[in-house]
Amino acid sequence: MSVIINESRCPQNHPCPSVRVCPVGALKQSGFKAPEVDMDKCINCKKCAAFCPMGAIRVNN
Ligand code: SF4
Repeated sequence: MSVIINESRCPQNHPCPSVRVCPVGALKQSGFKAPEVDMDKCINCKKCAAFCPMGAIRVNN
């Protein structure tokens, strides 16, 4: 399982809305950069991928 952040799709100019929907706090954003995922916390719920309006997050099983 993996969460892939496509930095070329992320405008990196705003607070990432997907950070707030992650139920386990696995997404972290430094400044306005594309978020990073802590795979030790991630439970593979796919909420972040569904929520990102830019389609910049993909979750693979
Ligand atoms: S798949 Fe779910 S648990 Fe994993 S980073 Fe995305 S929102 Fe968080």
